[in-house]
Amino acid sequence: MPYLADEDRYQKMDYNYTGKSGLKLPAVSLGLWHNFGGVDTLENARKMLRKAFDLGINHFDLANNYGPPAGSAEETMGILMEKDFKPYRDQLVISSKAGYYMWPGPYGNWGSRKYLISSLDQSLKRMGLDYVDIFYHHRPDPDTPLAETIGALKQIQDQGKALYVGISNYNAKQTKKAVEVAEKMGVDLLLNQYNYSIFDRWSEKENLLGTLKEAGMGSIIYSPLAQGLLTDKYLDGIPADSRAAKESGFLKEDSITEEKLEAVRKLNEIAADRGQSLSQMALAWVLDQGATSVLVGASKVEQIIENAAAINNTSFTNEELAAIEAIAAE
Ligand code: NDP
Repeated sequence: MPYLADEDRYQKMDYNYTGKSGLKLPAVSLGLWHNFGGVDTLENARKMLRKAFDLGINHFDLANNYGPPAGSAEETMGILMEKDFKPYRDQLVISSKAGYYMWPGPYGNWGSRKYLISSLDQSLKRMGLDYVDIFYHHRPDPDTPLAETIGALKQIQDQGKALYVGISNYNAKQTKKAVEVAEKMGVDLLLNQYNYSIFDRWSEKENLLGTLKEAGMGSIIYSPLAQGLLTDKYLDGIPADSRAAKESGFLKEDSITEEKLEAVRKLNEIAADRGQSLSQMALAWVLDQGATSVLVGASKVEQIIENAAAINNTSFTNEELAAIEAIAAE
């Protein structure tokens, strides 16, 4: 049976302008970092992407190195593009990145023009696409001149291989420098993709969100659930099918401490009082801070359904916010 997307999908999601651009992103986006690789089942990946799109989540986030093995998440996207999503290409925002290790030798890592351009060409082939909607430099490169990296992004955009370009994991100072260089070259940086959550506050200390707003850029937040910690899943131990239990998972068992679980228990109670699950409250909290989109991961369709419904309650009372701050500061 060919896939037919839910006709009501756009009523089920909120869409926010990305900075001062004309591009709207869904409040909840889906990332393919884990669970879409060659080691995972294609049928589950297919079910999750279909469900996400049916719920109005029309932004899928990838990178050259997602898998494992590296590159295989983009191959999965390519297969599912062909099987299900080709008729919907113009309704989708598909992003990719380069900046981490991808292939051996001097040209498969960091931020040179040589690396970024050849990597994106490889990504496009794996996904069977003519262009990506957003292409990011994945992390700052201390050694390549910023003008070369930003110049490569401009070249990519000018060639039509990416409609928009952005940066990822740039702190506030690095963002300001990148914006300065980009302005001189006449290229707009659409957004910054970085980690932020109730537990992860480095970006607040340097007012990264404020810096982005000032620059007219958007913000898309990865690991808003702290890789699954900000859900109720680890409260009774580590489930065998969880990220923390998987060899290829990035969340390590030793980061699930008793103190963290105590905080999770208390946050879980606040969420219950709000009539939400903890994952929904954690996502709503990031949106309430002013992010353009929260970029979630998932291993099951049910998680996508639960997370998409976070948009139904994104306002907090001062008391709730204070209680969350007190728990996060413990
Ligand atoms: P999250 O914090 O959303 O963690 C996702 C994981 O949490 C899922 O894989 C699942 O893990 C668990 N989970 C999700 N929803 C629920 C739920 N409702 N109930 C219980 N458990 C749940 O984000 P990620 O760390 O996955 O990052 C999201 C995306 O951000 C990535 O896919 C990628 O696209 C991007 N990213 C970008 C980076 C960058 O450097 N630019 C770095 C990291 C991520 P489980 O397998 O245990 O079920």
